[in-house]
Amino acid sequence: MGKPLIIAGTRPELIKMAPIALALKRQRVHFKFLYTGQHYDHELSRAFISELGLPEPDYDLGIRAGHSATLTGEVVIRAAQAIRELDPALALVQGDTNTALAATIAAIKEKVPVGHVESGLRSYDWRMPEEHNRRMIDHVSNYLFAPTERALLNLFEEKAPGSKHVTGNTVIDATINNMSRAESISTISQKLRFREYVLVTAHRAENVDDPVVLRSFVEVFQGMPLPVVFPVHPRTVNRLRSLGLLRKLTSHRNVQLLPPVGYFDFLILMKRSSLILTDSGGVQEEATSPPIRKRVVVMRNSTERPEAVEWGFARLAGTSKQEIIRCAVGMLETRTKLPSKSPFGDGSSGKTIGRLVAEIVESRLRPSQAQQPTQFSVVSALRD
Ligand code: UDP
Repeated sequence: MGKPLIIAGTRPELIKMAPIALALKRQRVHFKFLYTGQHYDHELSRAFISELGLPEPDYDLGIRAGHSATLTGEVVIRAAQAIRELDPALALVQGDTNTALAATIAAIKEKVPVGHVESGLRSYDWRMPEEHNRRMIDHVSNYLFAPTERALLNLFEEKAPGSKHVTGNTVIDATINNMSRAESISTISQKLRFREYVLVTAHRAENVDDPVVLRSFVEVFQGMPLPVVFPVHPRTVNRLRSLGLLRKLTSHRNVQLLPPVGYFDFLILMKRSSLILTDSGGVQEEATSPPIRKRVVVMRNSTERPEAVEWGFARLAGTSKQEIIRCAVGMLETRTKLPSKSPFGDGSSGKTIGRLVAEIVESRLRPSQAQQPTQFSVVSALRD
């Protein structure tokens, strides 16, 4: 017993766990790393492990994406076995994926405490499988690492029982840590057909699995006032192909489709873009980071990251063609300056969470001197 266990299975989890792994390494806290394989496309996952400087996983569960419930069940069974063998002091899960939910269930059943990174986000949109996952994880986790004070308030409102901490979001650390390296090694700019462009990502199930919404997106991309660069998620390619929409995009002279790109390339694509259109969660956060600072049209009906909207970085456009184009045109014409800071942190979240993890592990190793990990002032202020 004794080491914390980092668990991840998808692209955003790897990106957001990497700063914690780095901080633990710097603090000389040994940890283990379990990778579930939920995103099996190399571009979507394994490539990120080396790119982000994460160690090779101690365990690769070899799960292959499948039906949501089956995948979740398989991760529970295999992660529980790995957790039994590793006997960690703490299981760290991130975000709202099926990997995060399944690993949480496995750890709880194996009597290992869980720390939830990026806790307390709420879209209040029950059509989103991510909303189900994040609520379930938050209510059984022992340690809740909320990125913002709003996320913390959500947890208090719901009376989530875990120990709560405001930590910022490690995605900001990731952009800051990796941008200069990305600038020196990425060659993506040479592959672009356009100098000025709108960057697009779209993969949320409630969008791309709905033919009406997907058709509306295709019309949006065709009708943008600037050319569109679109690294396409495998789920989206499949849906576009089955609806006969893929050719409409590949043959359009103002649209450049790319396969999903590595993290360094994606950082450069964001930085060089004039505007971002997305239904991604992480991209809404990254756009607010000082090395990127871009306006974002969120092609969704709800967001669990309202801070980006409140700070002027993002606009929630919904999924109708007219509204997305109206928002995009409005944002391209806006001349007001964006804030120089991000609502999601200052790049020190990995360090903060790393310190908390070290305290938690220490208190479990020496139960006689057990201490509660440091409560952040905002927590005690709210409790008083
Ligand atoms: N990303 C990437 N390559 C791409 C598209 C996105 O590296 O082609 C990164 C992006 O920087 C962000 C993360 O993937 O950090 C977002 O992942 P995704 O949109 O799949 O998940 P979400 O954040 O919506 O959960």
